[in-house]
Parts: sequence; structure tokens; C-alpha cells
Amino acid sequence: MNVASFFDRSATAVAQVLGECDSDRLRLKLSGLAVALAFDSKAVRASEGVATLELATDLLARFYPGLGLIPLDDDPATVAMVSKLGEAAGAIHPGIELKPEMCTVCCCLIVGSRVPALGVPTIFIGSHGWNAILDPSQPVGSLDTLNPFGAAAAACVGVANAFRFAFADLLPDTRPDRALEFDVLHHRLGRCSVGPALPDRVDIDGTHLVGLGAIGRAAAWSLSHAPALRGRLDGVDHEAIEDSNLQRYVGATQADAAAGVLKCQSVMAMFRGSGVQVVEHPLTWGQYLRSRADCRLDRVAVALDTPDDRISLQAALPRRILNAWTQPGDLGVSRHGFTSGPCLACLYLPEREVPSLSHLVADAIRLPELEVRGLLHAGFRVDAAFLGRVALAAEVPLEALLPFDGLPLRSFYTKAVCGTTWFGTGAGGDRGAMAVPMAFQSALAGVLLAVEIVADAVMLRTTAMAPLTKINLLKPLGSRLVEPAAKHKSGQCICQDDTYRAAYQRKYA
Ligand SMILES: [Zn+2]
Repeated sequence: MNVASFFDRSATAVAQVLGECDSDRLRLKLSGLAVALAFDSKAVRASEGVATLELATDLLARFYPGLGLIPLDDDPATVAMVSKLGEAAGAIHPGIELKPEMCTVCCCLIVGSRVPALGVPTIFIGSHGWNAILDPSQPVGSLDTLNPFGAAAAACVGVANAFRFAFADLLPDTRPDRALEFDVLHHRLGRCSVGPALPDRVDIDGTHLVGLGAIGRAAAWSLSHAPALRGRLDGVDHEAIEDSNLQRYVGATQADAAAGVLKCQSVMAMFRGSGVQVVEHPLTWGQYLRSRADCRLDRVAVALDTPDDRISLQAALPRRILNAWTQPGDLGVSRHGFTSGPCLACLYLPEREVPSLSHLVADAIRLPELEVRGLLHAGFRVDAAFLGRVALAAEVPLEALLPFDGLPLRSFYTKAVCGTTWFGTGAGGDRGAMAVPMAFQSALAGVLLAVEIVADAVMLRTTAMAPLTKINLLKPLGSRLVEPAAKHKSGQCICQDDTYRAAYQRKYA
């Protein structure tokens, strides 16, 4: 079977997740792997079932070269869904095999209420409102409500389980999840009550979504599947979709990458026909702030790449910040005011002195720091001669570097050093800034960020939650997902500074 054009990016993610760095071995293993997704008319006729099917298809097509879409009855709605999902998978990976040999199928995710005999390991996934449900032995069903959040989370957790089946030989903990219900509103596990109904009208006016990469667009995807949502959503991201993004960008297609569609335009398109009005800002956060006359920022949902970006976002003093991340080891969301509890900067201020960019670049490409600092300052673009020196000094094959010819040195560092395994998986420093996670990890972080926005907008939680939620999808979900956190122990954070605290209180008094 044919692996996707963006395989190299997937290989980097797998290398970081599994510690397996031999790209040729991974390609060989992956080219013989397929996953099946089976469903019946009960799933197709329930809104939540459709959300789970659409997101699971999207995530699976971004990784496996084979995706078996198996109808479990001959109802016309089921048959139509097979074609619809097949088309969506083909738009992501045109060479995908939609009828893989069963001997290549490592497991089957099942949505609906039938129990097929397929001769492969099965995982039943579905949802009841806020609750994502998974069971290895019996159908769990999907409700027909207009709440997509448990359904979307079920897709992520199901796809994570499929991944643990597929790479059982490389993962330290390959146990599948036991039967579970995951309440994505309260972040509790176990037999949960169904929880409060999502109101018929949810006004998210005044929300900013900053950073429309893998996490931000998964958040947008989830919000766009909740028809009750109303109001204005400001999307901020200055970049365009590229081929290398397709590995984990929910809803993004080969056509988007080929046309270089702006990330904020792509997100706006998700909400077409909905009650949410997305206003696009193809700017960096700093440029966006300078373009605004009003300094009040009511609710800012953040999915930016680096700790420094998050710290500078906090410095703009939004009333409330909702933050989502993926990093080696876990994914998560955090909730922040400013005066009490940790602010966003408290979580990202370094514990010790951080090496400068020129130091990091020079260290990775093995050239003198003084020279690198000068080149970075001058905006130098790497050329064939420079790449030849890097190849020699860092002992990296020149042909691996040539595709990056012409990039500014800073982008070369981000894409060639941090975004591949040629310079080792630890390249890029130890602050987790450039980790490349798997699609299902970013997607769950995005789904949880969307829930934070909705929960904050309609005050759905009746009791206060601790600031942090952390989840590791590479092993069975733990029973405790929520963690306390305190302000930065140095006492030097802006939220511990009287001037900033007074400014915040003046803004939102
Ligand atoms: Zn702070």
C-alpha cells in the first residue's frame, strides 16, 4: 500500500513518540498496515455517531495507507456514508487503499450497535453527550444529540487504541483501554452520569482562537459541529497550510496544501452556514495586538507553538485564558484567570536560564555560534554551499538537507532540525517547543480546548476545576486527569507584579 506524501512528517512524529528513528523500517512497516472502521445505520442516523465517524476517518487517513470502511448493514444511509467517508479519506491521501486485505488490518473500530465477526481485534466507540465511551467487548452506541464533544473525543481515544495495536512491538505499554466512559466536561472517568445538556443556544461572542495549527483547528472543527453555537470568533494565525501539515491537520486536504490556503481562511470555511461568525486575522499575535484599538480581550483560547509565544500572549492580559498543548509524554488543557491561581506564564516560565536561539542552532548544526548569530541577525537564507558545510559538520546526508535550500536560517532550523530526525530526536532544546505529535493527540487537545470555550461561555461547570488536565494517549487513560498547579515559585511572574495586577483589575473591573 502507498504511504502518504507527508510520510516523512509522520515518521518524525512516530520517531518522537516511539523512539524508533529508522525511517526506512517505519515506511516498510507502515506500508503493510491498515485499520478498519465499521458502522451500521444506527450510527449513521445519530448526529454523534456521524461526528465520531467523520473524525475517526480523518485521523486514520492521515496515517495508515489502508482504511477499510465496512458497512454493517445494507441500509442506503450506511452505504451512502461509506462513499462519503471514502471521498474524505481520498482528499487527504489520494493513494489510500479503501479495500485493504483483511490480513493487513490490525484492528477495527466499530460505531453503532452491531457485533460483526471480522476476525481482527475490535474496539467499540461511541458517545452519550459529553461522555466519550469505549469498550473492547460490546457495542456502546451513539446518541442523536447536537453535542459533538464526547463523540469527537471518542474518535481520538479509539484511534489512539488502534495505534497501540499497530505498534505493539515498539510501545512500552500496549494494553488497550478497558471499558471506559470519559466525561469531557468534568474530565472524570468511570460510569459517568450523562451531565448537563448542551443548551440550545451557546453564545461564544468575544472568543479569540490564537494559533490555528493542529490543535487550534481541531478545536474549530469541534465547535463547528455544535449547531447551538452563536457569536463572533476571532481566529489569529499568519501561516498557510503546507503539505507537511497534512499529517495532523483535521479537515485539511491535499488541495488546501497545493493552493497554500491560509490557516485562518480554512478555519473560517469550517463554519460556513453556522451561527458562528469567524473573523480571520492572518497576522502574528503581536501584529494582531498592534492592529487593535481595544485592549480588552475577554476569552482567549491558545494553541501556540512555543513557551515564549504563550508568555507574550499572557502579557496582553486577557480576562480569561484557555490553553491547550501537546508535548512528549502528554497532551492537555489548562484554565487561567490572572489574580488567583497560576496564570499562563506561570506554567511556561523556565525553571532555569534558557539557551539563546543562536546557541541552539549552532549546537545542532555544529557551526560556530558567533557565525550563526550573525547569519540569523542578517536574515541569511541557506544555500547549497552552506548546506554542504552543515552536512559535513553534523554528519547528515546532504540529500536530506537539499529540499530546504533557500529557506531563511531560522526556518531551516525549525523545519530541518526540529521537524526531522536527522539531527536526533532531542534536537530543538528540551522545552518541548517543536515536538511533532500524532494526529490523534493534537485532535484530542483541540476537542478539550473547544469544551473549555463552551464551558466558560455558558458556565456549565457548577464546581471549580483545578487548573490542569493532562492525558497520555499512549497508554490506558489513568483515573486522575486533573491536577492542581500554583503560581510560579520564583515570585517573578507578571501575575505576581502589583503593576500588572492593578492593570488587569482596571481592565475588567
Ligand atoms: Zn503567572
